[in-house]
Amino acid sequence: MLEFTEKGLILRVGRFREADAWVRMLTPSRGVLTAFAFGGMKSRRRFPGCLDPLNLVLFKFGSDRRGRYLNLDEGTLLNGHPLLRGNPRNLGVAVNCLKFTEAVQVAPEGAEGSYSLLLNLLDLLEEEIAEPEALPLLFRARLGFSQGYEPDFLACGGCGLPVEHFDRPRFFVEKGQVLCPSCADGPRWQKGLPVSSGALRALHWIMSHPPGEWPRLTVPPLVRREFSLIVERFIAYHLGLEWDGGTFRNV
Ligand SMILES: [Zn+2]
Repeated sequence: MLEFTEKGLILRVGRFREADAWVRMLTPSRGVLTAFAFGGMKSRRRFPGCLDPLNLVLFKFGSDRRGRYLNLDEGTLLNGHPLLRGNPRNLGVAVNCLKFTEAVQVAPEGAEGSYSLLLNLLDLLEEEIAEPEALPLLFRARLGFSQGYEPDFLACGGCGLPVEHFDRPRFFVEKGQVLCPSCADGPRWQKGLPVSSGALRALHWIMSHPPGEWPRLTVPPLVRREFSLIVERFIAYHLGLEWDGGTFRNV
């Protein structure tokens, strides 16, 4: 038998049978996990106000005797994000980011960074923001590029030359690298995505600033298009995910 207490940000809740539920959540030390709340849909005493997406809950976990699955013994609601729930624009953004987090299946290694990233984003969405619709792309960039290894956007991945010292940088999705024209010449060069130094600086900025500062980032439409193309291609190639009609599907 396994027993522990852990915080979890609920991503999704599914019902099965009359009173039972499964709960998928992001935790700081175990990444994304799924646990069963037997009787959870009926028990107000064990899970008061807890079993809904967007809730941050302190859960007491147990397992079945053979340790095959986790179950939830009880929960204490820590933060239900009430202001965000009452703001339809921000709520749509939050739901999009929860779906992406679930699709990424954040592993235990590095889960703490992903967990605080998501919580910081939800804190930001508790406020009124000028353009909340710009945030999911930035969130996908930050979460996507932090799974595994993080590209260096400010230097050539081959020779280390800083991007301000060469012209026509290109981003190579498969390698997750920026390369200068002399490190990727010939036919290889054609495979790289042309990218301006403005877009590279914006990518670097997002990786090094917390969500609370993201509304300050303003970029021209061309830079935003390059930024978006790099993020979506990287996520499709390395994480196998593509946004398709309201959900992320595996590609
Ligand atoms: Zn180079």
